[in-house]
Amino acid sequence: GIEIENVHLSFGNTEVLTGVNLKIEPGEFFAFLGPSGSGKSTLLRAIAGFGPRPSGAIKIGGKDIVDLPPWKRNVGMVFQSYALWPHLSVRDNVAFGLRERKMPRNEIGPRVDAALDLVGLSHLADRMPNQLSGGQQQRIALARTVVVEPQVLLLDEPLSNLDANLRVQMRRELLSLQRKLGLTTIFVTHDQEEANTTSDRMAVLDGGVIQQVGSPQVLYDNPQNLFVANFLGTAN
Ligand code: ATP
Ligand code: MG
Repeated sequence: GIEIENVHLSFGNTEVLTGVNLKIEPGEFFAFLGPSGSGKSTLLRAIAGFGPRPSGAIKIGGKDIVDLPPWKRNVGMVFQSYALWPHLSVRDNVAFGLRERKMPRNEIGPRVDAALDLVGLSHLADRMPNQLSGGQQQRIALARTVVVEPQVLLLDEPLSNLDANLRVQMRRELLSLQRKLGLTTIFVTHDQEEANTTSDRMAVLDGGVIQQVGSPQVLYDNPQNLFVANFLGTAN
């Protein structure tokens, strides 16, 4: 699981995370909701090890990772803009992280094949990114992230560029992948229905702090404050 304890983070003089506390269970599918600028991406990037060093503790499997470099955190992240390397084939995009970790060549091939198989796109291994649809690119970005077998999967609006039908299909695939691999997952989305239908629990962020945490049912039935009620559209 992930434990976030009293995390503060500033860009210059501006404090963007203002005391985040959160415990996410192993294997949980957890959604972050919140208005634009509320700090969702900043918090995900802090967990992954990008951006300024936060104060407080971020623990994975009980171990504080705040001072570890990104590649030693056992965390995989799909960014809000999921750009693949345009000059690398699908296969080489997925292999990139394994090469970076200096995995022996003969182990890389089978791992890449397995990851492509997982997202159902083995047949596109030799294509270049510009020869793929948006949904296919999205799935390759996911394969590229899970291929390194992270303990924790961080997804920053990974379906935002897809049309409505593909979105629904992809979120089912994502959820089944997450269950299959037992990954502790944080999923940022602007889409409340998406959060409701996928997540075990969710958190609503505003102003760099968590306003409420609970199952979708609890947040809708018992919003803790006016912000949450208004944001989720449950205020009367
Ligand atoms: P969105 O839903 O639009 O993606 P978000 O909740 O992900 O929003 P963040 O990207 O975490 O929001 O940004 C939180 C705040 O931090 C914003 O006010 C943003 O302008 C500021 N911010 C983010 N990155 C930087 C940076 N590198 N330097 C300065 N300020 C930043
Ligand atoms: Mg964001």
